[in-house]
Amino acid sequence: MPVYEFECPNGTITEKLVRMNTKEIACPKCHQKAKKIISACTFELKGGGWYADGYSSKKHSKTK
Ligand SMILES: [Zn+2]
Repeated sequence: MPVYEFECPNGTITEKLVRMNTKEIACPKCHQKAKKIISACTFELKGGGWYADGYSSKKHSKTK
């Protein structure tokens, strides 16, 4: 699971390991809803799908 950053209404940033579809968590300090901050890093990972596909098909043809 990836690490995401969450920001609550008070501006507290919390890093937490959560599922990809988790949009918000409870802030450990003020217990309000903290929303997920989308980082540039996350977008890069999503765009890498085509590469992963090509790699796996190459690997497959090499299998004995
Ligand atoms: Zn908070």
